[in-house]
Amino acid sequence: MRSTTWMALMVTVAVAACTKTTSSSYDLVVANGRVMDPESGLDAVRHVGITGGRIAAVSETPLAGTRVIDAANHVVAPGFIDLHEHGQQEESYRMMVRDGVTSALELEVGNEDIAKWYADHEPGQIVNYGVSVGHIRARMKVLGDPGKELLPAGVGGSGKATEAQMAEMETILRKGLAEGAVAVGFGSAYTPGASMDEIQRMFKVAAEGNASAHIHMRNGVAGLDSTIAAAKAAGAKLHIVHVNSSGDTSLSFFLSHIEAARAHGDVTTEAYPYGAGMTEIASALFDDWQTWPDARFGLHQLVSTGERLTRTTFGEALLNRALAIAKEK
Ligand SMILES: [Zn+2]
Repeated sequence: MRSTTWMALMVTVAVAACTKTTSSSYDLVVANGRVMDPESGLDAVRHVGITGGRIAAVSETPLAGTRVIDAANHVVAPGFIDLHEHGQQEESYRMMVRDGVTSALELEVGNEDIAKWYADHEPGQIVNYGVSVGHIRARMKVLGDPGKELLPAGVGGSGKATEAQMAEMETILRKGLAEGAVAVGFGSAYTPGASMDEIQRMFKVAAEGNASAHIHMRNGVAGLDSTIAAAKAAGAKLHIVHVNSSGDTSLSFFLSHIEAARAHGDVTTEAYPYGAGMTEIASALFDDWQTWPDARFGLHQLVSTGERLTRTTFGEALLNRALAIAKEK
């Protein structure tokens, strides 16, 4: 997807400044593009006329407009909704727009202070944006994790929560949903200390708030099955994030288990369109690094320099809490 040129119809953003003149039929015409409309199934070269921020015509013949954009050799499609966008700054939004994304949502890790998160994004951004209230982040706060970035770097990941601490997490999630979080985020792969009972309790909060639960899950196919069972018991709508990375070499099993689960409940998934992921080396994903064979380190690249890692440099990067790109095996 990244190598294809997309032109998203960012109608509300792009058209706001245009004024209609009497000599033109439309405020804006997107001409000659390959129009792909998932709703109607249309896939053909068309001319799109926009007036007052809304699509007013999709025509086989050319249209006149105050402003005309020649979209020849481009796809013209509704803006994509990205459910997994950690970059929630204007620079990231600008990159996403170039990929055709018009709604950039951070639903996996999320945040623990939703009112502040939205306040920080005022007075608005160039794309639609939104965040989940995150179990990972709530856990980091309640257990006092030392991590300074997105993910736990200690007790927030590996520690066991007491009954009182779980109740505190539930309160954070409920508050976040009341403050406008659009989902509840989970990452059991990053919180190995969280029991499935804890996860299920938090799924229940999502269900009560009629919010979907988005999870980067742990433990391969067995983890998938226990996650689906917990969501079902809690009555939560479940979204398994980036199935290609979590499924890895068991991907076909993942997809068949998800397919089977869909017959009994609300389970969805998605895959990202590239064969590598990036995360923090200090996170629990790499807790077993000392047991790795030497060759596995070379699948990892330091984000800051691009260098391939070795057992020695991986250990150093861990102390520095660096970011690494991991290639899929
Ligand atoms: Zn993830």
